[in-house]
Amino acid sequence: MATHKTRMLIIGSGPAGYSAAIYGARAGMEPIVVQGLQPGGQLTITTDVENYPGFAGVIQGPWLMEQMQKQAEHVGTRMMWDTIVEVDLEGGSPFKAIGDSGDEYVGDVLVIATGAQAKWLGVPGEQELGGKGVSACATCDGFFYRGKKVAVIGGGNTAVEEALYLTNHSDDVTLIHRRDELRSEKILQDRLFANEKITPMWNKTVERFVDNGEGKLGHLELRDTVTGELSTLEVDGAFVAIGHAPATELFKGKLSMDDGGYLIVEPGTPKTEIPGVFACGDVMDHTYRQAVTAAGTGCMAALDAERFLATLEHAAKEAVPAE
Ligand code: FAD
Ligand code: NAP
Repeated sequence: MATHKTRMLIIGSGPAGYSAAIYGARAGMEPIVVQGLQPGGQLTITTDVENYPGFAGVIQGPWLMEQMQKQAEHVGTRMMWDTIVEVDLEGGSPFKAIGDSGDEYVGDVLVIATGAQAKWLGVPGEQELGGKGVSACATCDGFFYRGKKVAVIGGGNTAVEEALYLTNHSDDVTLIHRRDELRSEKILQDRLFANEKITPMWNKTVERFVDNGEGKLGHLELRDTVTGELSTLEVDGAFVAIGHAPATELFKGKLSMDDGGYLIVEPGTPKTEIPGVFACGDVMDHTYRQAVTAAGTGCMAALDAERFLATLEHAAKEAVPAE
């Protein structure tokens, strides 16, 4: 069991964690990134990325994250292949975290960048056709279905927003919901019902995502939740929009969270209620959830961390009695 000490401890290795590390390392904070079970984060499970600035052509998610990791290492970040299982935030800085390996990590500041995961239906074909017609992010993948037939599954704000967004690319969007009433806000419902490109399909659940014989999504097998009848819907793309789960289990009872489990930060900043603990990326953002916004808030966390440490170090110097 080893103890690893650093001025800046970062939990999570998605765009938020790596961006915090790049800025933190360049500011001399010698960051440690504990990478977790998914080094590189959510973008490692997708293929084409077309909306991350700086690249004229389409790039691959796993490649982008490999580049971010190398950039963070190049400027002096230490990567640890471990998963944090416990944190101790009591008493303020320095903060302690324990890894699955048994190692202890101690940071003068703590940056939480543990992200969020889309919830999936867990039905046959969903995983196999992920990135081949099945997606959980219309903003990310909608563009690939220009002029094609798509479906959105869910009845909350996310599902309605995804359906509305998809009408920028497709004239044939079906919203599939398991009840006959949406959960989303009225204003969004009004927009949905007024949009001729969207057809709501009530009382249906997806039983199976079915291959078109060429390794891509061909149709959905649906079950009526009232009659139990089976039917099919031919689509090129299906967007699962039944909610997201932020990775905040570790911080329950230690940091404030909203009803969805997202960490609460001071508006417009990555500051949590504990001085020296910052949260960035999807773990504190249920609205935008994009790689570029995660990277942006990662940068903000590092800049605020640097200011926090400067104040702490200045206070420590002032406290030393003059000889
Ligand atoms: P994540 O990327 O979620 O990373 C979280 C990190 O935290 C992971 O490294 C994980 O291992 C680590 N972690 C979690 N718990 C622990 C722990 N206990 N200890 C240590 N580490 C831990 N966005 C775009 O901008 N463009 C796109 O084209 C795009 N496509 C997408 C396609 C798919 C299929 C998905 C799922 C998402 C897509 N997104 C896209 C969204 C984008 O991936 C996320 O917004 C972004 O990755 C969030 O970054 P993050 O750093 O906050 O967290
Ligand atoms: P949500 O409100 O929890 O809605 C999830 C939807 O998916 C519900 O309609 C639910 O059906 C359905 N669902 C859940 N599990 C399912 C399953 N296994 N099979 C089929 N359907 C399933 O999630 P969300 O829409 O992602 O929103 C999360 C939070 O973010 C909410 O507080 C929301 O208001 C907020 N948000 C706000 C905005 C905005 O303000 N513009 C935008 C997006 C999200 P039931 O209705 O039958 O339960």
